[in-house]
Amino acid sequence: MELNMPEVNVTAIPAFADNYIWLLSIGGTECAVVDPGDAAPVRQVLRQDGLDLAYVLLTHHHADHIGGAAALAEATGAEVHGPHDPRIPNRPHAVREGETVALPRLGLRFEVLEVPGHTTSHIAFVGHGCLFCGDTLFSVGCGRLFEGTPAQMLASLDKLAALPPATRVYCGHEYTLANCAFALEVEPGNADLLRRARAAEAARAAGRATVPSLLGEELAVNPFLRSRQPAVVAAARRRDPAAEPGVSTLAAIRAWKDTF
Ligand SMILES: [Zn+2]
Repeated sequence: MELNMPEVNVTAIPAFADNYIWLLSIGGTECAVVDPGDAAPVRQVLRQDGLDLAYVLLTHHHADHIGGAAALAEATGAEVHGPHDPRIPNRPHAVREGETVALPRLGLRFEVLEVPGHTTSHIAFVGHGCLFCGDTLFSVGCGRLFEGTPAQMLASLDKLAALPPATRVYCGHEYTLANCAFALEVEPGNADLLRRARAAEAARAAGRATVPSLLGEELAVNPFLRSRQPAVVAAARRRDPAAEPGVSTLAAIRAWKDTF
């Protein structure tokens, strides 16, 4: 679908205990970051790699995703793009579903998807084989429902699940090990999930990130993307005997995970 689009290099800048700030470049000196919750580690990478920050993309208003945006924009002149949400200070360029965010200094373009659930105004950026989904979809998990409903989260996850299976999923946190432990409670017989859990353990033991994952892999192992699968529905019924495939199963396993 994007055969004429440039390849984008994406690297993780770890922040706080388990956040990832994603750094995008195409090999030149200009770059973009996604969800800079903290300016300091971004500044350090810019300095160390001789990069100019041209763009900041924000997925949602939580402080651990936007906390460094204003300071970075102020220091570098970077353009900031994010959702329509008055809780994000300094008025970023606000975008809605169906709009495209153009990053002309990098030759990159991302489509915007509205993915409410974790928060009401959460958005995701899709392009160049990459999905930047903040705290909506995690590897083997999904975000907590702080503001949205299970139905909203399911609709958002369905939207992401419809992207090409080779899409690389760049989420906002390193939560994969804990997510695997929970997912194995839900689907202990899922062989793909067992493999994913072992691979994640090996990656963490070697000090590597477990993300990005591929969307196609997530469809096979992520219980929140599998809320219509019989094994997941059966597990949800241990919590809510009335759970049906879809929204009520997602609601039951999300509530279960909240106290896991
Ligand atoms: Zn969040």
